[in-house]
Amino acid sequence: MLTSQMIKEAAYAAGADKCGIAPISRLAGAPDEMNPKFLFPEAKSVIGFVFRIPRGVQRGIEEGTQFYQYPSMAYGGINEILAPAVLYQVGKVIEDEGYEAFTYRNTGARSAMSDMDGSYGKTLSPEEQIEVNEHAKNATAHHRSVRFTRPSREGNVPPDLQFQFRLCAVACGLGEIGWSKMLLTPEFGPLQRVAFLFTDAELEYDEMYHGEPLCRKCGACVRECPGGCIPPINGGAKVTVNLDGKICEWGDIDMWRCYAFYTHAGRYYNPFVPKEVFDANENGSLNLMEVPGTEANEQEIMKVYTALAKYFPSWVGYNMAKCGGCIRACVSMLEKKGGCMEGRFEQPLRTKKAWKLDR
Ligand code: SF4
Ligand code: SF4
Repeated sequence: MLTSQMIKEAAYAAGADKCGIAPISRLAGAPDEMNPKFLFPEAKSVIGFVFRIPRGVQRGIEEGTQFYQYPSMAYGGINEILAPAVLYQVGKVIEDEGYEAFTYRNTGARSAMSDMDGSYGKTLSPEEQIEVNEHAKNATAHHRSVRFTRPSREGNVPPDLQFQFRLCAVACGLGEIGWSKMLLTPEFGPLQRVAFLFTDAELEYDEMYHGEPLCRKCGACVRECPGGCIPPINGGAKVTVNLDGKICEWGDIDMWRCYAFYTHAGRYYNPFVPKEVFDANENGSLNLMEVPGTEANEQEIMKVYTALAKYFPSWVGYNMAKCGGCIRACVSMLEKKGGCMEGRFEQPLRTKKAWKLDR
């Protein structure tokens, strides 16, 4: 008989760092376009897997000397190699017992709704659009949403369905969402990625996390975001979701603004772009980064990506995340001031003042 213990043992043996299981009913309140019930209507359980991000892959960014390890190891490596391998192995255990295993890795695929702003229709993926403009002029441009998708039968939602990974992780009892919208876990703070598996097997379920709040509402992520994308803790705009009775709350982040800053970081945090480029701000293409009050939208983001594309150090399939601001700030604070990262490492992540380019 298939048990939760069998599933967790298989997950840990294959390389997952944490595994939690929830009844699919915990996600019943999700909007249709993001509700996993449409993925697999007979599913009774959702299994969530946590894959830790080694703190050391942030070291190069913390020192300002190596920016490649984080996107390649902690985005690409986990999403493309480690997580699919674990899903595959656990899926075999489930299917050997006669139940179906609908695996759901982090694909970065697009749905009818933009994952940036929740709108329907076309929203651009600037870095992919540049590729299309330069190398594949007759190909379909890439977007944050798919425009022409239609329900495949009456009562369905249009493909491809994407659900809210972080809320699903909370439902599986894996952690809570912090003010910065990152998933925080008691074991790894903000340092992990997740993947999921849906099955028609009924299992024993984990409770949702109900210990001390994992987010200390300290505001370190707000202060250290190079783009000012995260609203202030007190009085800032927030998002509140009732997840089967558990109230989840986070800052209403300016996602388009983050799209520009997490990749390109701006004048003070991007050592790959000469100061003169920011000073010249040709055709106002860097207004979003240089002129306070400029609204972040697709057009402004496209200008930034186009202007700075040639300074991109290296493509690794995933955007070169240069800021790392909210994650490193959170780790550093939770280690030093008490929180879920306390006592894990002999030395703190941050041993000196955070760097900032003098220009
Ligand atoms: S830095 Fe502080 S406020 Fe931000 S997510 Fe982490 S604990 Fe919460
Ligand atoms: S990823 Fe970077 S730009 Fe985006 S919210 Fe975090 S610190 Fe700000």
